[in-house]
Amino acid sequence: MSTLVVIGVQWGDEGKGKVVDLLAREADIIVRFQGGNNAGHTLVVDGQKTVVRLIPSGVLHAGKVCVIGNGVVVDPQVLVEEIDTLQQQGCLTDPALLKISETAHLIMPYHKAIDLARERLRGEGRIGTTGRGIGPTYEDKMARVGIRFVDLLDEKIFSEKLAHNLQEKNIYLGAILQEQALDYRQIFDRYCHLRTRLAPYITNTSRYLHQEISRGRKVLFEGAQGTMLDVDHGTYPYVTSSNTVAGAVCAGAGIAPRHIHNVIGISKAYTTRVGSGPFPTELFGPEGEKLRRDGGEFGTVTGRPRRCGWFDAVVVRTAARLNGLTSLALTKIDVLSGLPTLRICTGYQYRGQHYDEVPASTTVLENLTPLYEDLPGWDEPLTGIRSLDALPGNARRYVERIEELVGVPVKMISVGAGREETILIRPSFF
Ligand code: GDP
Repeated sequence: MSTLVVIGVQWGDEGKGKVVDLLAREADIIVRFQGGNNAGHTLVVDGQKTVVRLIPSGVLHAGKVCVIGNGVVVDPQVLVEEIDTLQQQGCLTDPALLKISETAHLIMPYHKAIDLARERLRGEGRIGTTGRGIGPTYEDKMARVGIRFVDLLDEKIFSEKLAHNLQEKNIYLGAILQEQALDYRQIFDRYCHLRTRLAPYITNTSRYLHQEISRGRKVLFEGAQGTMLDVDHGTYPYVTSSNTVAGAVCAGAGIAPRHIHNVIGISKAYTTRVGSGPFPTELFGPEGEKLRRDGGEFGTVTGRPRRCGWFDAVVVRTAARLNGLTSLALTKIDVLSGLPTLRICTGYQYRGQHYDEVPASTTVLENLTPLYEDLPGWDEPLTGIRSLDALPGNARRYVERIEELVGVPVKMISVGAGREETILIRPSFF
Protein backbone atom coordinates (compact mmCIF):
# COMPACT_ATOMS: atom_id res chain seq x y z
CA MET A 1 0.00 0.00 0.00
CA SER A 2 1.90 3.04 -1.14
CA THR A 3 -0.45 5.91 -1.86
CA LEU A 4 -2.52 8.14 0.39
CA VAL A 5 -5.03 10.78 -0.66
CA VAL A 6 -5.79 13.66 1.71
CA ILE A 7 -9.16 15.28 1.17
CA GLY A 8 -11.01 18.10 2.92
CA VAL A 9 -14.50 16.84 3.71
CA GLN A 10 -16.28 20.13 4.43
CA TRP A 11 -16.05 23.48 2.64
CA GLY A 12 -12.26 23.78 2.71
CA ASP A 13 -9.93 25.29 5.33
CA GLU A 14 -10.13 22.11 7.41
CA GLY A 15 -6.48 22.41 8.41
CA LYS A 16 -5.28 20.17 5.56
CA GLY A 17 -2.02 22.10 5.40
CA LYS A 18 -0.95 21.00 8.85
CA VAL A 19 -2.10 17.39 8.39
CA VAL A 20 -0.43 17.03 5.00
CA ASP A 21 2.74 18.52 6.40
CA LEU A 22 2.65 15.93 9.16
CA LEU A 23 1.86 13.01 6.85
CA ALA A 24 4.52 14.16 4.41
CA ARG A 25 7.14 12.94 6.89
CA GLU A 26 6.18 9.40 5.87
CA ALA A 27 5.90 10.12 2.14
CA ASP A 28 8.53 10.31 -0.58
CA ILE A 29 6.50 12.40 -3.02
CA ILE A 30 3.69 14.92 -2.44
CA VAL A 31 1.33 15.78 -5.28
CA ARG A 32 -1.31 18.42 -5.95
CA PHE A 33 -3.93 17.37 -8.50
CA GLN A 34 -6.58 20.13 -8.72
CA GLY A 35 -7.31 23.77 -7.90
CA GLY A 36 -4.96 26.69 -8.17
CA ASN A 37 -3.32 29.24 -5.96
CA ASN A 38 -6.55 29.94 -4.10
CA ALA A 39 -5.76 27.11 -1.71
CA GLY A 40 -3.52 28.80 0.84
CA HIS A 41 -2.29 26.36 3.44
CA THR A 42 -0.80 27.70 6.65
CA LEU A 43 2.07 25.71 8.10
CA VAL A 44 3.58 26.42 11.48
CA VAL A 45 6.95 24.75 12.02
CA ASP A 46 9.07 25.67 15.04
CA GLY A 47 6.92 28.75 15.52
CA GLN A 48 7.62 30.01 11.98
CA LYS A 49 4.54 30.57 9.84
CA THR A 50 4.67 29.80 6.11
CA VAL A 51 1.78 30.06 3.66
CA VAL A 52 1.99 27.92 0.54
CA ARG A 53 -0.55 28.39 -2.20
CA LEU A 54 0.55 26.21 -5.10
CA ILE A 55 3.48 24.06 -4.08
CA PRO A 56 2.42 21.04 -2.00
CA SER A 57 2.70 21.54 1.77
CA GLY A 58 5.33 18.80 1.98
CA VAL A 59 7.87 21.27 0.65
CA LEU A 60 9.17 22.12 4.11
CA HIS A 61 10.58 18.59 4.52
CA ALA A 62 14.08 18.20 3.18
CA GLY A 63 14.47 15.83 0.26
CA LYS A 64 10.79 15.27 -0.58
CA VAL A 65 9.72 15.63 -4.19
CA CYS A 66 6.78 17.99 -4.77
CA VAL A 67 4.62 17.57 -7.88
CA ILE A 68 2.11 19.97 -9.43
CA GLY A 69 -0.15 17.70 -11.46
CA ASN A 70 -1.91 18.36 -14.75
CA GLY A 71 -5.25 19.04 -13.02
CA VAL A 72 -3.87 22.14 -11.29
CA VAL A 73 -4.15 25.55 -12.95
CA VAL A 74 -0.98 27.52 -12.40
CA ASP A 75 -0.30 31.23 -12.20
CA PRO A 76 3.38 31.19 -13.21
CA GLN A 77 4.07 34.55 -11.58
CA VAL A 78 2.75 33.29 -8.22
CA LEU A 79 4.69 30.05 -8.61
CA VAL A 80 7.98 31.86 -9.22
CA GLU A 81 7.37 34.09 -6.18
CA GLU A 82 6.62 31.04 -4.06
CA ILE A 83 9.79 29.27 -5.25
CA ASP A 84 11.83 32.41 -4.42
CA THR A 85 10.37 32.66 -0.90
CA LEU A 86 10.91 28.98 -0.19
CA GLN A 87 14.46 29.09 -1.50
CA GLN A 88 15.22 32.05 0.77
CA GLN A 89 14.14 29.78 3.63
CA GLY A 90 16.55 27.10 2.50
CA CYS A 91 13.91 24.83 0.88
CA LEU A 92 13.73 23.66 -2.77
CA THR A 93 17.42 24.24 -3.37
CA ASP A 94 17.62 21.28 -5.78
CA PRO A 95 15.44 21.73 -8.92
CA ALA A 96 14.82 17.95 -8.96
CA LEU A 97 12.61 18.41 -5.90
CA LEU A 98 9.87 20.20 -7.83
CA LYS A 99 8.09 18.83 -10.88
CA ILE A 100 5.41 20.66 -12.83
CA SER A 101 3.17 18.82 -15.26
CA GLU A 102 3.74 19.83 -18.88
CA THR A 103 -0.02 19.61 -19.43
CA ALA A 104 -1.09 21.80 -16.50
CA HIS A 105 -2.92 24.90 -17.70
CA LEU A 106 -1.61 28.44 -17.24
CA ILE A 107 -3.57 31.19 -15.58
CA MET A 108 -3.21 34.19 -17.89
CA PRO A 109 -3.66 37.89 -17.04
CA TYR A 110 -6.97 37.94 -18.95
CA HIS A 111 -8.31 35.18 -16.72
CA LYS A 112 -7.69 37.31 -13.65
CA ALA A 113 -9.16 40.42 -15.28
CA ILE A 114 -12.30 38.49 -16.28
CA ASP A 115 -12.65 36.93 -12.82
CA LEU A 116 -12.44 40.27 -11.01
CA ALA A 117 -14.69 42.14 -13.42
CA ARG A 118 -17.41 39.48 -13.32
CA GLU A 119 -17.43 39.40 -9.54
CA ARG A 120 -17.70 43.21 -9.47
CA LEU A 121 -20.63 43.16 -11.90
CA ARG A 122 -22.43 40.47 -9.89
CA GLY A 123 -22.76 42.86 -6.94
CA GLU A 124 -25.03 41.30 -4.33
CA GLY A 125 -25.20 38.01 -6.21
CA ARG A 126 -21.44 37.44 -6.09
CA ILE A 127 -20.25 33.87 -5.65
CA GLY A 128 -17.25 34.74 -3.51
CA THR A 129 -14.46 33.97 -5.96
CA THR A 130 -10.96 34.95 -4.87
CA GLY A 131 -10.36 36.73 -8.20
CA ARG A 132 -7.24 34.78 -9.08
CA GLY A 133 -8.44 33.70 -12.50
CA ILE A 134 -8.88 30.06 -11.58
CA GLY A 135 -12.51 29.68 -12.75
CA PRO A 136 -11.92 31.34 -16.15
CA THR A 137 -8.80 29.19 -16.66
CA TYR A 138 -10.80 26.00 -16.11
CA GLU A 139 -13.46 27.36 -18.49
CA ASP A 140 -10.84 27.79 -21.21
CA LYS A 141 -9.48 24.32 -20.51
CA MET A 142 -12.92 22.83 -21.13
CA ALA A 143 -13.48 25.09 -24.15
CA ARG A 144 -10.16 23.73 -25.49
CA VAL A 145 -8.52 27.12 -25.86
CA GLY A 146 -6.32 26.92 -22.76
CA ILE A 147 -2.55 27.38 -22.80
CA ARG A 148 -0.47 24.65 -21.17
CA PHE A 149 3.14 24.58 -19.99
CA VAL A 150 4.07 22.51 -23.04
CA ASP A 151 2.78 25.41 -25.17
CA LEU A 152 4.73 27.94 -23.17
CA LEU A 153 7.94 26.00 -23.84
CA ASP A 154 7.48 26.53 -27.59
CA GLU A 155 7.75 30.27 -28.20
CA LYS A 156 6.02 30.17 -31.59
CA ILE A 157 3.03 28.18 -30.38
CA PHE A 158 2.76 30.28 -27.26
CA SER A 159 2.82 33.48 -29.31
CA GLU A 160 0.08 32.21 -31.66
CA LYS A 161 -2.19 30.97 -28.90
CA LEU A 162 -1.76 34.12 -26.86
CA ALA A 163 -2.49 36.38 -29.84
CA HIS A 164 -5.56 34.37 -30.80
CA ASN A 165 -6.97 34.24 -27.29
CA LEU A 166 -6.21 37.84 -26.46
CA GLN A 167 -8.07 39.11 -29.50
CA GLU A 168 -11.26 37.45 -28.30
CA LYS A 169 -10.72 38.18 -24.59
CA ASN A 170 -10.14 41.88 -25.23
CA ILE A 171 -13.46 42.15 -27.06
CA TYR A 172 -15.17 40.40 -24.16
CA LEU A 173 -13.37 42.52 -21.55
CA GLY A 174 -14.26 45.77 -23.31
CA ALA A 175 -17.76 45.20 -24.66
CA ILE A 176 -19.25 43.01 -21.93
CA LEU A 177 -17.26 43.69 -18.78
CA GLN A 178 -16.35 47.36 -19.38
CA GLU A 179 -12.67 46.72 -18.70
CA GLN A 180 -9.46 47.96 -20.35
CA ALA A 181 -7.94 45.83 -23.10
CA LEU A 182 -4.72 44.00 -22.21
CA ASP A 183 -1.46 44.46 -24.10
CA TYR A 184 -0.09 41.47 -26.05
CA ARG A 185 3.59 42.49 -25.88
CA GLN A 186 3.56 43.00 -22.14
CA ILE A 187 2.05 39.56 -21.49
CA PHE A 188 4.31 37.85 -24.02
CA ASP A 189 7.50 39.31 -22.54
CA ARG A 190 6.48 38.58 -18.98
CA TYR A 191 5.55 34.96 -19.73
CA CYS A 192 8.75 34.37 -21.71
CA HIS A 193 10.70 35.54 -18.68
CA LEU A 194 8.69 33.23 -16.44
CA ARG A 195 9.32 30.37 -18.87
CA THR A 196 13.07 30.62 -18.37
CA ARG A 197 12.56 30.43 -14.60
CA LEU A 198 10.17 27.46 -14.70
CA ALA A 199 11.51 25.39 -17.61
CA PRO A 200 13.80 23.23 -15.41
CA TYR A 201 10.79 21.92 -13.50
CA ILE A 202 8.41 21.11 -16.39
CA THR A 203 8.06 17.41 -17.20
CA ASN A 204 5.72 14.45 -17.77
CA THR A 205 4.58 14.07 -14.15
CA SER A 206 2.01 11.36 -14.95
CA ARG A 207 4.72 9.04 -16.19
CA TYR A 208 7.05 9.99 -13.36
CA LEU A 209 4.38 9.14 -10.76
CA HIS A 210 3.58 5.83 -12.42
CA GLN A 211 7.24 4.84 -12.30
CA GLU A 212 7.67 5.87 -8.69
CA ILE A 213 4.46 4.14 -7.51
CA SER A 214 5.55 0.98 -9.34
CA ARG A 215 8.85 1.15 -7.45
CA GLY A 216 6.93 1.19 -4.17
CA ARG A 217 7.65 4.79 -3.29
CA LYS A 218 5.12 6.42 -0.96
CA VAL A 219 3.05 9.05 -2.70
CA LEU A 220 0.74 11.47 -0.96
CA PHE A 221 -1.95 13.30 -2.95
CA GLU A 222 -2.93 16.59 -1.41
CA GLY A 223 -6.44 17.88 -2.11
CA ALA A 224 -7.28 21.56 -2.05
CA GLN A 225 -10.63 23.10 -1.00
CA GLY A 226 -13.19 20.56 0.26
CA THR A 227 -15.71 17.98 -0.88
CA MET A 228 -18.69 20.34 -0.51
CA LEU A 229 -16.95 22.67 -2.98
CA ASP A 230 -16.63 19.96 -5.66
CA VAL A 231 -18.07 21.23 -8.95
CA ASP A 232 -20.19 18.05 -9.37
CA HIS A 233 -20.88 16.90 -5.82
CA GLY A 234 -20.77 20.13 -3.80
CA THR A 235 -23.37 22.78 -3.04
CA TYR A 236 -23.56 23.97 -6.65
CA PRO A 237 -23.29 26.76 -7.80
CA TYR A 238 -21.44 27.85 -4.63
CA VAL A 239 -18.50 25.61 -5.45
CA THR A 240 -15.02 25.76 -6.90
CA SER A 241 -14.36 25.10 -10.59
CA SER A 242 -12.69 21.70 -10.23
CA ASN A 243 -13.46 18.26 -8.84
CA THR A 244 -12.17 18.04 -5.29
CA VAL A 245 -13.16 14.43 -4.49
CA ALA A 246 -10.65 11.58 -4.24
CA GLY A 247 -11.64 10.34 -7.70
CA ALA A 248 -10.15 13.51 -9.17
CA VAL A 249 -6.67 12.23 -8.30
CA CYS A 250 -6.77 9.87 -11.28
CA ALA A 251 -7.56 12.53 -13.86
CA GLY A 252 -5.67 15.36 -12.17
CA ALA A 253 -2.41 13.51 -11.60
CA GLY A 254 -2.66 11.01 -14.46
CA ILE A 255 -2.62 7.83 -12.39
CA ALA A 256 -4.86 4.76 -12.63
CA PRO A 257 -7.68 4.10 -10.09
CA ARG A 258 -5.98 0.92 -8.88
CA HIS A 259 -3.14 3.05 -7.55
CA ILE A 260 -5.35 4.77 -4.98
CA HIS A 261 -4.99 2.85 -1.74
CA ASN A 262 -5.89 4.98 1.29
CA VAL A 263 -8.02 8.09 1.62
CA ILE A 264 -7.95 10.22 4.74
CA GLY A 265 -10.62 12.90 5.19
CA ILE A 266 -9.81 16.06 7.12
CA SER A 267 -12.61 17.65 9.07
CA LYS A 268 -12.75 20.39 11.65
CA ALA A 269 -14.44 19.46 14.92
CA TYR A 270 -16.98 22.14 13.92
CA THR A 271 -17.86 23.63 10.52
CA THR A 272 -16.81 26.74 8.61
CA ARG A 273 -17.56 28.17 5.22
CA VAL A 274 -16.14 31.15 3.34
CA GLY A 275 -18.29 33.32 1.09
CA SER A 276 -21.88 32.73 0.01
CA GLY A 277 -23.86 29.51 -0.22
CA PRO A 278 -25.99 27.24 1.95
CA PHE A 279 -24.65 26.33 5.39
CA PRO A 280 -27.27 24.41 7.44
CA THR A 281 -25.53 24.50 10.84
CA GLU A 282 -24.35 28.12 10.70
CA LEU A 283 -24.28 30.01 14.03
CA PHE A 284 -25.09 33.71 14.15
CA GLY A 285 -24.82 34.43 17.88
CA PRO A 286 -22.03 34.46 20.47
CA GLU A 287 -21.17 30.77 19.92
CA GLY A 288 -20.32 31.47 16.28
CA GLU A 289 -18.27 34.48 17.39
CA LYS A 290 -16.36 32.31 19.84
CA LEU A 291 -15.50 29.74 17.17
CA ARG A 292 -14.36 32.51 14.81
CA ARG A 293 -12.26 34.21 17.49
CA ASP A 294 -10.69 31.14 19.12
CA GLY A 295 -10.30 29.30 15.83
CA GLY A 296 -8.79 32.32 14.05
CA GLU A 297 -11.34 31.76 11.33
CA PHE A 298 -10.21 34.29 8.76
CA GLY A 299 -9.09 33.35 5.23
CA THR A 300 -5.36 32.61 4.83
CA VAL A 301 -5.14 34.28 1.43
CA THR A 302 -8.05 36.73 1.49
CA GLY A 303 -8.37 37.56 5.23
CA ARG A 304 -12.16 37.25 4.92
CA PRO A 305 -13.99 36.21 8.13
CA ARG A 306 -15.30 32.67 7.86
CA ARG A 307 -18.87 31.69 8.71
CA CYS A 308 -18.85 29.24 11.64
CA GLY A 309 -21.28 26.57 12.83
CA TRP A 310 -21.78 23.24 14.58
CA PHE A 311 -20.28 19.97 13.32
CA ASP A 312 -22.48 18.62 10.54
CA ALA A 313 -22.37 14.83 10.40
CA VAL A 314 -24.59 14.88 7.29
CA VAL A 315 -21.89 16.73 5.36
CA VAL A 316 -19.04 14.52 6.55
CA ARG A 317 -21.07 11.31 6.07
CA THR A 318 -21.79 12.31 2.46
CA ALA A 319 -18.10 13.08 1.95
CA ALA A 320 -17.09 9.75 3.50
CA ARG A 321 -19.12 7.89 0.89
CA LEU A 322 -18.05 10.05 -2.07
CA ASN A 323 -14.35 9.79 -1.26
CA GLY A 324 -14.30 6.24 0.10
CA LEU A 325 -12.62 7.49 3.27
CA THR A 326 -10.51 4.91 5.06
CA SER A 327 -9.89 7.23 8.02
CA LEU A 328 -10.66 10.67 9.39
CA ALA A 329 -8.48 13.39 10.94
CA LEU A 330 -10.31 15.77 13.26
CA THR A 331 -8.75 19.22 13.57
CA LYS A 332 -9.14 22.22 15.87
CA ILE A 333 -10.96 20.36 18.62
CA ASP A 334 -9.12 22.66 21.07
CA VAL A 335 -11.29 25.53 19.82
CA LEU A 336 -14.37 23.91 21.39
CA SER A 337 -13.06 24.15 24.98
CA GLY A 338 -15.31 26.35 27.11
CA LEU A 339 -18.60 25.69 25.34
CA PRO A 340 -21.02 24.15 27.91
CA THR A 341 -23.00 22.22 25.29
CA LEU A 342 -21.93 21.03 21.85
CA ARG A 343 -24.42 20.29 19.12
CA ILE A 344 -23.90 17.79 16.30
CA CYS A 345 -26.22 17.81 13.32
CA THR A 346 -27.31 14.22 12.63
CA GLY A 347 -29.85 14.74 9.84
CA TYR A 348 -31.96 17.31 7.99
CA GLN A 349 -35.73 17.75 7.81
CA TYR A 350 -37.53 19.52 4.99
CA ARG A 351 -41.30 19.46 4.35
CA GLY A 352 -41.74 16.19 6.18
CA GLN A 353 -38.84 14.47 4.46
CA HIS A 354 -35.76 13.26 6.29
CA TYR A 355 -32.27 13.55 4.77
CA ASP A 356 -29.24 11.61 6.00
CA GLU A 357 -27.03 12.97 3.20
CA VAL A 358 -26.65 16.41 1.63
CA PRO A 359 -29.54 17.08 -0.80
CA ALA A 360 -28.81 18.44 -4.28
CA SER A 361 -31.38 21.23 -4.29
CA THR A 362 -30.20 24.66 -3.13
CA THR A 363 -33.79 25.47 -2.13
CA VAL A 364 -33.93 22.46 0.17
CA LEU A 365 -30.46 23.23 1.56
CA GLU A 366 -31.35 26.82 2.33
CA ASN A 367 -34.68 26.06 3.98
CA LEU A 368 -34.21 22.76 5.79
CA THR A 369 -34.20 22.27 9.54
CA PRO A 370 -31.06 20.66 10.95
CA LEU A 371 -31.71 17.95 13.52
CA TYR A 372 -29.35 18.20 16.47
CA GLU A 373 -28.03 15.96 19.17
CA ASP A 374 -26.61 17.74 22.23
CA LEU A 375 -23.45 16.60 23.95
CA PRO A 376 -21.85 18.03 27.11
CA GLY A 377 -18.79 20.21 26.51
CA TRP A 378 -15.56 20.58 28.50
CA ASP A 379 -13.60 23.51 29.92
CA GLU A 380 -10.04 22.16 29.90
CA PRO A 381 -7.63 23.45 27.25
CA LEU A 382 -6.63 20.56 24.94
CA THR A 383 -3.55 21.94 23.22
CA GLY A 384 -1.07 20.25 25.56
CA ILE A 385 -2.68 16.80 25.27
CA ARG A 386 -0.91 14.09 23.24
CA SER A 387 -2.93 10.93 23.87
CA LEU A 388 -6.55 9.90 23.57
CA ASP A 389 -6.63 8.74 27.19
CA ALA A 390 -5.59 12.15 28.45
CA LEU A 391 -8.51 13.91 26.74
CA PRO A 392 -11.37 14.98 29.03
CA GLY A 393 -14.13 12.33 28.99
CA ASN A 394 -16.57 14.62 27.21
CA ALA A 395 -14.06 15.37 24.45
CA ARG A 396 -13.47 11.65 23.93
CA ARG A 397 -17.21 11.04 23.80
CA TYR A 398 -17.55 13.82 21.22
CA VAL A 399 -14.93 12.17 18.98
CA GLU A 400 -16.50 8.72 19.39
CA ARG A 401 -19.93 10.05 18.50
CA ILE A 402 -18.53 11.62 15.33
CA GLU A 403 -16.93 8.28 14.38
CA GLU A 404 -20.29 6.54 14.86
CA LEU A 405 -22.31 9.09 12.92
CA VAL A 406 -19.87 9.26 10.01
CA GLY A 407 -18.94 5.58 10.00
CA VAL A 408 -15.18 6.15 9.64
CA PRO A 409 -12.45 5.71 12.29
CA VAL A 410 -10.67 8.83 13.53
CA LYS A 411 -6.92 8.28 13.17
CA MET A 412 -5.65 11.67 14.18
CA ILE A 413 -6.85 14.57 16.34
CA SER A 414 -5.29 17.98 16.01
CA VAL A 415 -5.27 20.08 19.19
CA GLY A 416 -3.26 23.09 18.01
CA ALA A 417 -1.63 24.68 14.98
CA GLY A 418 1.88 23.28 15.62
CA ARG A 419 3.13 20.02 14.08
CA GLU A 420 3.59 18.44 17.51
CA GLU A 421 0.15 19.50 18.78
CA THR A 422 -1.42 16.30 17.54
CA ILE A 423 -2.86 13.09 18.96
CA LEU A 424 -2.02 10.14 16.72
CA ILE A 425 -4.49 7.37 17.46
CA ARG A 426 -3.59 4.92 14.71
CA PRO A 427 -0.19 6.16 13.61
CA SER A 428 0.24 4.30 10.30
CA PHE A 429 -1.26 6.02 7.28
CA PHE A 430 0.20 4.38 4.17
P1 GDP B 1 -6.22 24.40 5.11
O1 GDP B 1 -6.30 25.22 3.88
O2 GDP B 1 -7.21 23.29 5.08
O3 GDP B 1 -4.84 23.98 5.48
O4 GDP B 1 -6.70 25.31 6.27
P2 GDP B 1 -6.05 26.63 6.83
O5 GDP B 1 -4.76 26.95 6.20
O6 GDP B 1 -7.09 27.65 6.87
O7 GDP B 1 -5.67 26.12 8.27
C1 GDP B 1 -6.43 26.36 9.29
C2 GDP B 1 -5.77 27.27 10.32
O8 GDP B 1 -5.88 26.62 11.56
C3 GDP B 1 -4.30 27.55 10.18
O9 GDP B 1 -4.05 28.83 10.72
C4 GDP B 1 -3.63 26.48 11.03
O10 GDP B 1 -2.37 26.83 11.52
C5 GDP B 1 -4.61 26.36 12.14
N1 GDP B 1 -4.75 25.03 12.72
C6 GDP B 1 -4.62 23.81 12.09
N2 GDP B 1 -4.92 22.83 12.95
C7 GDP B 1 -5.26 23.43 14.13
C8 GDP B 1 -5.72 22.93 15.39
O11 GDP B 1 -5.86 21.74 15.61
N3 GDP B 1 -6.00 23.85 16.35
C9 GDP B 1 -5.87 25.18 16.16
N4 GDP B 1 -6.21 26.00 17.15
N5 GDP B 1 -5.46 25.69 14.98
C10 GDP B 1 -5.16 24.82 13.98
